[in-house]
Amino acid sequence: MHLEHLFTEENRQLRQTLRDFTKKEIIPITKQLEQDYDLVEQVHQKLVDIGIQASGYPVEYGGGGNHSMTNSAIITEELSRGDAGIALSVGANMSGAGPAAAVGNKAVLERFAPIFCQGKLAYACLSMTDEAGGADTENPLLHGAGIKTSARLVGDEYIINGSKMWPTHGGIADSYITFCNTDPSLGDDGVAMIIVPGDAPGLTFGKPEKKMLFKTVINGSVYYDNVRVPKEYRVAGPGMDANLCNMLTAVAGWFGGLQALGIAERAFEIVLDYTGTRMGGFKPVRQHSIVAGIIADMAIGIEMMRAGLYNLAFMLDNSDIYNPIYGPSWSPEFIAKTAVVRVFAADTAVELINKGAELLGSMAISEDFPYEKLLRDVKITQLWLGGQQICRYKVAQGYYDLKNWA
Ligand SMILES: Cc1cc2nc3c(=O)[nH]c(=O)nc-3n(C[C@H](O)[C@H](O)[C@H](O)COP(=O)(O)OP(=O)(O)OC[C@H]3O[C@@H](n4cnc5c(N)ncnc54)[C@H](O)[C@@H]3O)c2cc1C
Repeated sequence: MHLEHLFTEENRQLRQTLRDFTKKEIIPITKQLEQDYDLVEQVHQKLVDIGIQASGYPVEYGGGGNHSMTNSAIITEELSRGDAGIALSVGANMSGAGPAAAVGNKAVLERFAPIFCQGKLAYACLSMTDEAGGADTENPLLHGAGIKTSARLVGDEYIINGSKMWPTHGGIADSYITFCNTDPSLGDDGVAMIIVPGDAPGLTFGKPEKKMLFKTVINGSVYYDNVRVPKEYRVAGPGMDANLCNMLTAVAGWFGGLQALGIAERAFEIVLDYTGTRMGGFKPVRQHSIVAGIIADMAIGIEMMRAGLYNLAFMLDNSDIYNPIYGPSWSPEFIAKTAVVRVFAADTAVELINKGAELLGSMAISEDFPYEKLLRDVKITQLWLGGQQICRYKVAQGYYDLKNWA
């Protein structure tokens, strides 16, 4: 899909930098990275050194002041060609103060933004999935009723109790963007987004989850036992916090779509390469028409994913045009647009990577060949952030008043 006329020179330079980085620093060692977290952190530090981690933070705190969602999309897509887990970590760490910056919460920015701007690897965690039913925390149709982690205002502090499962960087993060509830009877007004420092007393963690995919990322439970934080660390306040939570989960789903795109692009490169030299029926495998049809379907899927995902980046970067049409970025209509591309990208990537595997024969699943990692990694893009089911609700809700409590 021809998007070049929409990219700026800055976008193009960033893409080249990240493409070269991925080719040199990640692709040659993807297998080792899955087994050695020290190596993963070395790659992260190199990305910090070229300014990626700080890029999204405000300039006054030492950040790069990048507000371009197109740039964020490029970083995610390009890193995901090498390792989507690394792309996930980088995305989380780049956007740790995003909600606070959006509403100008100085207390949060002053406390947390410098941590990510001092040239050292730091971790941010989006702590949202409650142990008691993760999809409920990410379902805007429940208006906060599914968020079981509580926050009680006592004097100048919020006291937080509850437990989260699976958060990326759970156990190693410097800051936890925590979804909690001050009073479930208040609906959206009860939803609170509170930033908790990683060293807050009462915060404890489970062991890193053992998982078949995204092995280069640490996911662990987060337990809040009377964790006290200054009330200023609540990002916006009643009503707006719910909007931010809904927007953040929607945008995170779109990021997942970009990871799916990067994984699919790498899969396509491998399939094209392998079938160009592997012989079958006395000619390269890809010269058979039945194989060409599958390769064409892979290309079609990737082109359409890229068009949809970058279209959303341009929408987010041109809010003066799109917000008057669809409402603010947390409106059901806007969230529906993000969910459309997330659902499409995740389903398309899973399907085409599976079909591509057929063209590689047994090499598809060999641990000595790069494809099996892609088969594993891509699956999460359908499962997280409420799964494809909740995301389809988000799509439907953009078109009519869907009422779902089931
Ligand atoms: C690699 C990885 C990274 C992750 N990163 C993070 C992170 O950074 N932060 C974080 O907080 N979490 C994170 N998660 C957790 C992830 O977002 C959740 O696991 C996911 O949202 C689903 O929650 P659950 O597993 O509790 O599923 P459940 O809530 O048990 O849902 C199971 C199934 O039921 C369906 N379902 C649920 N409710 C309904 C309904 N009302 N109608 C129809 N179907 C429904 C769901 O769609 C899903 O298919 C991560 C997970 C992984 C594996």
